[in-house]
Amino acid sequence: MENESEIAHTCFEICDKYDHLFNKHDKKSEVSKINFQSPDYVDVSKETFDIIRDSKYYSRLSSGSFDITISPIVDLWDINNHPHVPKKKNIAAALKYVNYKNIQLKDSSVKLAKHQEIDLGGIAKGYVADKIKNFLTKKQISSAIINLGGNILVIGDNDKKDFNIGIKKPFSNKNNAYSAKIKIKNKSVVTSGAYERYFKKNNKIYHHILNPKTGYPTDNSLYSVTIISDKSEDGDALSTATFVMGLEKGMSFINHLNHIYAVFITKDYKLHLSDGLIINKNNEISISQ
Ligand code: ADP
Ligand code: MG
Repeated sequence: MENESEIAHTCFEICDKYDHLFNKHDKKSEVSKINFQSPDYVDVSKETFDIIRDSKYYSRLSSGSFDITISPIVDLWDINNHPHVPKKKNIAAALKYVNYKNIQLKDSSVKLAKHQEIDLGGIAKGYVADKIKNFLTKKQISSAIINLGGNILVIGDNDKKDFNIGIKKPFSNKNNAYSAKIKIKNKSVVTSGAYERYFKKNNKIYHHILNPKTGYPTDNSLYSVTIISDKSEDGDALSTATFVMGLEKGMSFINHLNHIYAVFITKDYKLHLSDGLIINKNNEISISQ
């Protein structure tokens, strides 16, 4: 039997393995190969094929609010390195290549349209969290929290009780200020928020969740969306998608999906819960059905 530190070490190795496959900034990754070799078919591992197939599924499900071909637009805004507002004409030029329908999947290979590129930043953490859960479950770990940069996946319970997962108060200066607490067992909790990565210009906030239809950061009444689901991949893709959809469309979208719940925080700091969630006077949220 391996000890806990060996098991934890393997979890980090799993993260590295997928980083080498999915990171578009690593020139040797499979995603880079696909991006550089468009418009040719590129043979890829089962994992890379699967995450791209799943991405297309979430794109169809969300009518294009989630779209991994957003990559050229992500590069233009360059939120992580040199954040700036790109020229309108550059956004218009890059938008021509944003369309998930042009991703071709065949056997074990992937092909993009000419000049198209993909960015798995909106789904990879969820996919990898599920893989780590599979590994830990095989190792008979019955209670754990997997936290990949705010993408939380909980295994089992916390000494027979619920785990408490905080939803960050958007744009709070205090590191541990929460808008609410989610009490759950054995679920994924993923938040997409305007406050995660952003810059301000002329008092306007520009953040990293982009609208594939406009090429600009999503600008609606929301500060964040938290998705509660079984699979973290669902939570990751759907939190990004619902954030783009906005409160009304996003709420109705989630309410039509089974076993998926959402907590929206609007810019007035009000909480909006999807069907199947309840909240008590201490702002503790749990699943009611
Ligand atoms: P975080 O990375 O903070 O957990 P998200 O899961 O919402 O947040 O993913 C945001 C990332 O996904 C961006 O940094 C970018 O790489 C990519 N992205 C941005 N907008 C979209 C979109 N509409 N569809 C798919 N991916 C997106
Ligand atoms: Mg996401």
